[in-house]
Amino acid sequence: MENRMKALVKARPEPGLWMEHVPVPEPGPADVLIKVRKSAICGTDVHIWKWDEFSARTVPVPMVVGHEFVGEIVDCGPAALKYRIGQRVSGEGHLVCGACRNCRAGRGHLCRNTKGVGVNRPGSFAEYLCIPEDNVVPIPDDITDEIAAILDPLGNAVHTALSFDLVGEDVLVTGAGPIGIMGALVAGRVGARKVVITDINPYRLDLAQRMGVQHVIDVGREQLRDVMADIGMTEGFDVGLEMSGAAPAMQQMIARMNNGGKVALLGIAPTEFPVDWNSVIFKMLHIKGIYGREMYETWYKMIALLQSGMDVSGLITHRIVVDDFEAGFAAMLSGNSGKVVMDW
Ligand code: NAD
Ligand code: ZN
Repeated sequence: MENRMKALVKARPEPGLWMEHVPVPEPGPADVLIKVRKSAICGTDVHIWKWDEFSARTVPVPMVVGHEFVGEIVDCGPAALKYRIGQRVSGEGHLVCGACRNCRAGRGHLCRNTKGVGVNRPGSFAEYLCIPEDNVVPIPDDITDEIAAILDPLGNAVHTALSFDLVGEDVLVTGAGPIGIMGALVAGRVGARKVVITDINPYRLDLAQRMGVQHVIDVGREQLRDVMADIGMTEGFDVGLEMSGAAPAMQQMIARMNNGGKVALLGIAPTEFPVDWNSVIFKMLHIKGIYGREMYETWYKMIALLQSGMDVSGLITHRIVVDDFEAGFAAMLSGNSGKVVMDW
């Protein structure tokens, strides 16, 4: 008889997710099968829950969703020889083709044929997950399961923040979601002078404050320009990390950058919006789009940052058993949460 497992499935093209019993995935020759211990909810999963335009266009149904996880290897395909059964692992959720120009040049994060775990192929909101062994990241013993379950978004933050030299620079982070807060913490640790984070949601602003971000600004109530003067900034921001996906945040960032400033864009906007391109030109800004993590340098760096004392555990605000997933998604949908980690 076929083995079956519990999984959170986008079963129908409408809002919601459903706990179902589905076949346990069969590892191919170079794949590993991982028994999932914990998985965390990402904003992308919330988009898929809501079944917005992006999800409806991208995700075929039925689909087991989720891509943030930690687990244990329970089976290896005959050609998967790098890891052993019982090893504690997480993994990169972007599968790259290995054949395009960038992949061949060792720049897998720039692959033009990326496939997403839990988006284009079965994901980690399940008792078992199958991924290629190349995507596996072993977890050192000094990193807990719950932190290992949020390495994927930490990787987004680390990749974005480390895109530019931050030593002695003044850094603006727009959006104090989990990734924005992590980005601000990285900026502080690697030697930025001023780190300013903005948001409009009181819960998120409070979370950023509690996590120890240097300057936390409610842009619904305060003028960023006034705050800059108060904290001793006389020019503009040297580096901007856009982590909200909100048009006003991006517009404000461009307005408050110094000439020659560097901007990394991670936040995903729901629709197109106007940008003052002449400011970009006359300020001579550098703009870099960010998708995912660098394979696998970001994984190395973020684990090293954690091992050198960066503490992001305070960002986990909800720890639930997976059968309570509806409460977990409700917390994410409300905006009054940090990371939600589900125990399988
Ligand atoms: P999130 O939605 O939890 O956080 C976004 C925050 O931006 C929210 O707290 C919101 O209140 C805030 N915000 C809204 N309007 C604002 C404004 N005008 N000024 C400042 N802040 C404002 O998202 P997250 O999980 O922290 O992820 C951050 C962003 O990165 C999201 O847009 C997400 O979709 C995107 N993302 C991109 C990638 C990628 O590879 N490019 C990967 C993961 C997430
Ligand atoms: Zn490729």
